[in-house]
Amino acid sequence: MDTTQKYCSFCGRDENQVKHLIAGANTFICDACIASAFDLVNMEEQIEESSILEDIKDLTPRKLKKGLDLHVVGQNEAKKVLSVAVYNHYKRLIVKNEDSDVELNKNNILLVGPTGVGKTLLAKTLAKELNLPFAIADATSLTEAGYVGDDVETVITRLIDDAGGDIALAEKGIIYIDEIDKVARKGNSTSITRDVSGEGVQQALLKIIEGTEASVPLSLGRKNPNQEQVKVDTSNILFIVGGAFAGIEDIVRNRYKSKGMGFSNENKSKIISDKEIYSLINSDDIIKYGLIPEFAGRISNIAYLNKLELSDMIKILTEPKNAIVKQYMKIFEMDNVELLFHKDGLEQLAQTSMERNIGARGLSNIIEKMITDLMFEIPSSKTIARVEIDKDVVLGNKKPIIIKVKDVISA
Ligand code: ADP
Repeated sequence: MDTTQKYCSFCGRDENQVKHLIAGANTFICDACIASAFDLVNMEEQIEESSILEDIKDLTPRKLKKGLDLHVVGQNEAKKVLSVAVYNHYKRLIVKNEDSDVELNKNNILLVGPTGVGKTLLAKTLAKELNLPFAIADATSLTEAGYVGDDVETVITRLIDDAGGDIALAEKGIIYIDEIDKVARKGNSTSITRDVSGEGVQQALLKIIEGTEASVPLSLGRKNPNQEQVKVDTSNILFIVGGAFAGIEDIVRNRYKSKGMGFSNENKSKIISDKEIYSLINSDDIIKYGLIPEFAGRISNIAYLNKLELSDMIKILTEPKNAIVKQYMKIFEMDNVELLFHKDGLEQLAQTSMERNIGARGLSNIIEKMITDLMFEIPSSKTIARVEIDKDVVLGNKKPIIIKVKDVISA
């Protein structure tokens, strides 16, 4: 073989047989091989893309809601709105893939509801059900590019991370932005005392929600100007935003009053319960609250999540697939100890958590505090057979009831 002659290391053709021969460290590649490699990569991406859509094609809103029911207690209206919106979102992707001349709009979703009632859990569960990557960010921690804090783009990096680095998959994922009400501009739209930073975050978020080719760092970590950047098309990412929107009920009531729609005097306004008021929230109300109109315009579904009742709290403790009580029982069981919650113990747990006004957020914290000492002791003790929690234990009037192995055997 002529050693001065250069050959394509892939197909073996020499430099006279090809248009271009590009040199690597110890190899060469010709233009034809580059083209076939490019096609191959493209084809794999397409196969991957269609398989994601294929999986989703079998879904129905009803099936989706059933999946949510396994993990999230109550919140039926929100579950329905979410299931339909998500179903339509992915239908839109299928239509887009089929090159149809009808283009469906994106269905971004707003979840309104007090803290700890399942907004984040719903978004997370949805992503799990769909087997799609999921990322979450708190709007208050986000900043416009150039300010100290997390750029809006970092949430996309988190999504890529959750997709295991697969950009095409990340481009179809779900992003949940919490506390969107906290970046509302202060006062209504005519006010001159605008909260500029909040509005800046909304503007930055708007860009990625509308769909853009964002340039984002491939990995998380400290900002480093030399970090590898990748381009991500955000137009098919589903955005769910959430917030408590405390006080929005007054805006809704005023809207109805000013339009003279039925309850213009004090008495009549009492007819509409808070629950009903929340179900009437529309785009105008959230703009009045302080979301910029362009941002509100990108939200096509608003769902309200109810405050949790005592009975919901008890269900949350015991019913979902990974209910908190089931989890602790499992942990104890692994050390051959039975963990038993008395009915009045569960009720008191729910009651104590309700009093804290943080929804179901406080539940695991309360249990954890009660049994941390036991979880420390049990693995090195072989004498404990059962631990019981009743109302007085939850109230802190006594320690958890311990039944020893010998007591169980002699009983
Ligand atoms: P938020 O509405 O503030 O986003 P989260 O979804 O983060 O609240 O809820 C906090 C925790 O409380 C969840 O991780 C879950 O354990 C529990 N929880 C809250 N609401 C529900 C619910 N409706 N069903 C089941 N668990 C819930």
